[in-house]
Amino acid sequence: MARTVTILGATGSVGTSTLDLIERQPGAYDVLALTAHRDVDGLAAAARRVGAKRAVIADPAQFNALRSALSGSGIEAAAGEEAVVEAAGMGADWTMAAIVGCAGLRPVMAALRGGRTVALANKEALVSAGDLMTDAARASGARLLPVDSEHNAIFQCFDHDRPGGVSRVILTASGGPFRTWSREAMAVVTPEQAVAHPNWSMGAKISVDSATLMNKGLELIEAYHLFPLPPEAFEVVVHPQSVVHSLVEYVDGSVLAQLGAPDMRIPIAYALAWPERMATPCARLDLTRIGTLNFEAPDLDRFPALGLAMAALKAGGARPAILNAANEIAVASFLDRKVGFLDIAAIVQETLDALDLPAPSDLDAVFEVDRAARGEAARIAREYCP
Ligand code: NAD
Ligand code: MG
Repeated sequence: MARTVTILGATGSVGTSTLDLIERQPGAYDVLALTAHRDVDGLAAAARRVGAKRAVIADPAQFNALRSALSGSGIEAAAGEEAVVEAAGMGADWTMAAIVGCAGLRPVMAALRGGRTVALANKEALVSAGDLMTDAARASGARLLPVDSEHNAIFQCFDHDRPGGVSRVILTASGGPFRTWSREAMAVVTPEQAVAHPNWSMGAKISVDSATLMNKGLELIEAYHLFPLPPEAFEVVVHPQSVVHSLVEYVDGSVLAQLGAPDMRIPIAYALAWPERMATPCARLDLTRIGTLNFEAPDLDRFPALGLAMAALKAGGARPAILNAANEIAVASFLDRKVGFLDIAAIVQETLDALDLPAPSDLDAVFEVDRAARGEAARIAREYCP
């Protein structure tokens, strides 16, 4: 029987790659719902192509536009944040959580409560509410499969039955477009330069995060919630070729790594077919053509965002949620050309310094922390506006 699938964030980079794989296997998947933020045309076209039962646009002002874009198709149209959450809770066998930012938290929680398989790309949700998400998965029996390439690599190398044998997890980082740049040079980069990632084609927000190395910081926190090891067991090494996607070290000194072309369809396919494997059209790795793989330590002076995230991981409590919210505001301000590239980490740092909030114990408390941190970060960002 076809597996039922829902894609949250279907019009984005990860969502589109997921649809690409599904469309290559006609009959294997039955699409229940697709959701998007504002891109009505992209959403309606995708829903028609895969014959989705329902298409949901998060922006309520787009309801009529979506309904007319779907007219005659028999696909249900819905709009608004609540409708996205409802679609996430429709009980699909497999849900791709690919909304960007904390906006994906309520939908991913709804999917986890359904007790089925959730393929997780939306790292910000896990950073802000990791304990609540893993508790919800445990309570419902939902399976969380990591889609982020590093975490997918770790998942593939990790001995889940004997975690005591693992001594260290090493996440690789490409270093982003400014890996070798001085602080002076980075001070004047444009959003266009920051989103032009050397190896991966991704959404704007994660591309900026890759350029500041905040992405790797968020990923350290993500890894901590996905794999049962203490914070100090997670490390970062810069690897500019993005061929080794991450490594797992065992107590005997053995190190297992997963390698592959830098194409998100590989980890997405792993999650989509799990526990089987499916064929993909992705490029095969030719090590003789690559020739050399390089590794270097991350430079926390030039990339302070990574250090901020490491500190938030060690401190725990509300710190990761504050870090994430402040970063979302700072990155949006940079993409709007209101603040400079180096101001991103500075705004996050000042927000963390300004706020001392108790550890959130439920979802409402996470959103309170998130709101407070966004308010503070926005206030600080205005001081950075030239
Ligand atoms: P993207 O910007 O390309 O797409 C984001 C998707 O989320 C879109 O479908 C958009 O419509 C939807 N969305 C945005 N804001 C929303 C809101 N407020 N409410 C409802 N829906 C909303 O982003 P992406 O690059 O596909 O990344 C998605 C997530 O996956 C991010 O958390 C990112 O960190 C993670 N991720 C992405 C990649 C990648 O290669 N792109 C790799 C690893 C992890
Ligand atoms: Mg990643």
